[in-house]
Amino acid sequence: THFGFRTIPAAEKQGRVDEVFHRVAARYDIMNDLMSGGLHRVWKDAMISWLAPPRRGPYKVLDVAGGTGDIAFRIARRSREAQLTVCDINESMLTVGRQRAEKQGLSDRVDFALGNAQSLPFPDMSFDAYTIAFGIRNVTVIEEALSEAFRVLRPGGRFMCLEFSPVDTPVLDRIYDLYSYRVIPEIGRRIVGDPDPYQYLVESIRRFPHRETFAEMIAEAGFSRVSFRKMTGGVALLHSGWRL
Ligand code: SAM
Repeated sequence: THFGFRTIPAAEKQGRVDEVFHRVAARYDIMNDLMSGGLHRVWKDAMISWLAPPRRGPYKVLDVAGGTGDIAFRIARRSREAQLTVCDINESMLTVGRQRAEKQGLSDRVDFALGNAQSLPFPDMSFDAYTIAFGIRNVTVIEEALSEAFRVLRPGGRFMCLEFSPVDTPVLDRIYDLYSYRVIPEIGRRIVGDPDPYQYLVESIRRFPHRETFAEMIAEAGFSRVSFRKMTGGVALLHSGWRL
């Protein structure tokens, strides 16, 4: 453990994750801005740029662990005829997402579906792109989520994952530790009234596979041309792959 936090056994994991997002749903978007200093917007925009959705024409995207809809809305605004499906395991997050979609006039192009990344409620080969942002580290069995991603993509479809990464650069890693274990739980305590949910998130970042290992896992699920890009000194990572 780091700074005395307990390691959470795998069996408890999904229940714990659900509790976290149920508790933070209403404040999720503001927390994202506060904790990342607005950087999550930059990373999400970089994800959409690399994905490069077509401006016109039919395009079906599944955004898994899509929460309150951030990725889906960005794609919808850029790609005028795209149909988006946000899938998340947490009804509280989806509720906030639906309200946001309505406010942004995107309800007719963005659907919200309750579902687990490890057993997606969609037929084989039904999407042109699969996105997952800050979601895959919450999944209990990552390999299962990856093979589900492969299954629902049509041949020629694109997989794209945005995730935090433990920092291994000297000096930056110390700053990152301090930020993770002192600042983040403190923001959690002040805004949500509880540091626990965010302590959990910090720990889940620690335990996520290394970027090269994760790239291998993506390839193992069947994807081709797997590559990744580091952002902000490696604090966040974008992984890409194709179902060919
Ligand atoms: N993608 C959004 C974003 O970037 O703002 C939300 C990310 S949020 C940090 C993580 C989301 O993953 C939560 O909404 C949570 O409910 C969802 N989640 C956790 N485990 C999941 C699972 N097994 N299947 C689907 N979604 C899951």
